[in-house]
Amino acid sequence: MKLATKYIHAGAHPDPSTGAIMTPIYQTSTYVQSAPGVHQGYEYARSQNPTRFALEEAFAVIENGKFGLAFASGVAATDAVMRLLVPGDEVIAAHDMYGGSFRLFSKVHEKMGIKFIYVDTSNATNVEKAMTPATKLIWLETPTNPLMNISDIEAISTIGKKHNCMVCVDNTFASPYLQNPLDFGATIVMHSATKYLGGHSDVIQGCLVMNDQALRDQLYFIQKSTGAVPGPQDCFLVLRGIKTLHVRMQRHCENGIKVANYLRQNPKVGKVYWCGFEDHPNHDIAKKQMRGFGGMMSFTLKEDSLAAATKVLSSTKIFSLAESLGGVESLINHPASMTHASIPREQRITNGLSDGLIRLSVGIEDADDLMADLAQAIG
Ligand SMILES: *Cc1c(COP(=O)(O)O)cnc(C)c1O
Repeated sequence: MKLATKYIHAGAHPDPSTGAIMTPIYQTSTYVQSAPGVHQGYEYARSQNPTRFALEEAFAVIENGKFGLAFASGVAATDAVMRLLVPGDEVIAAHDMYGGSFRLFSKVHEKMGIKFIYVDTSNATNVEKAMTPATKLIWLETPTNPLMNISDIEAISTIGKKHNCMVCVDNTFASPYLQNPLDFGATIVMHSATKYLGGHSDVIQGCLVMNDQALRDQLYFIQKSTGAVPGPQDCFLVLRGIKTLHVRMQRHCENGIKVANYLRQNPKVGKVYWCGFEDHPNHDIAKKQMRGFGGMMSFTLKEDSLAAATKVLSSTKIFSLAESLGGVESLINHPASMTHASIPREQRITNGLSDGLIRLSVGIEDADDLMADLAQAIG
């Protein structure tokens, strides 16, 4: 089945009690039993909810996986994966990644005895070199937030398999429309569904997708035991978002190409970070594992300073200055003070994330209006 058809029908079954074509929002905490232990498969809504189950099926379908699990946020989904580990286990993680993942690893799970080794995963050899017998998980983000570095999912999954080590890919930036990590051998895919899957900046949610039944059972146990489940209304919103993922992503990609090329020829702009450029250091890998390059990009001004960046960040009229990404509307963000403020400055600078870096989530408005807005803000 082609993507467009899959996205519209993923997880959708007429409601058994009425035939409603859209899965109802089952706003209930519990289910009546006719005798003790005699029920219809639903006991208590932290463990079972039909709206959530429909969405979890949709997550599996759109990521070419067997099982999907929904969480109250992207970081709750990440946290659930970390809870598979025990003290003494080691995780190899990308040195350039979402600040909230770094905070969760360094401030919450390190205290629990998990060791994190941060490497530049855009070179698979670095991952191979960092492997030890204690390495149980490789945590990848590709493209990375905010520097758009690309890691080779297939090469790193092969390394993981050789060492009996799981590989989890945070696929938030690409979305399932552009990239399906399980197809390249990854063990788990994670999304912040808050972003492209929801697509309308009106919900916080996360998900995991995997193929292995035993792993699914372990993660389902963690989901119900720790309780970070999304409510049915939020599940409904993400189910609705997924139905238009393909049309939104097509436009994000078209607008992304136009805005990236516009920025590159602007004489006041310094470096543009976007994996669609042929001279991007890992463009070939991006082309191999992605169907397009999306609407996420970052750039610096020639005058790479906080003051110059602040002027642009405060002057756009269509791009709203806000954290988050992946909604229909365009956003502009300052990673150093906003999304990535939880990473110490020295480490940020070493990783190439300067104080002047500006990140764009190019939305699906008219591309000419977006370029005109950037032109007036850059001045
Ligand atoms: C937003 C984001 C997260 C965290 O997701 P929440 O839904 O905000 O908890 C994780 N990874 C990436 C790449 C993100 O952009």
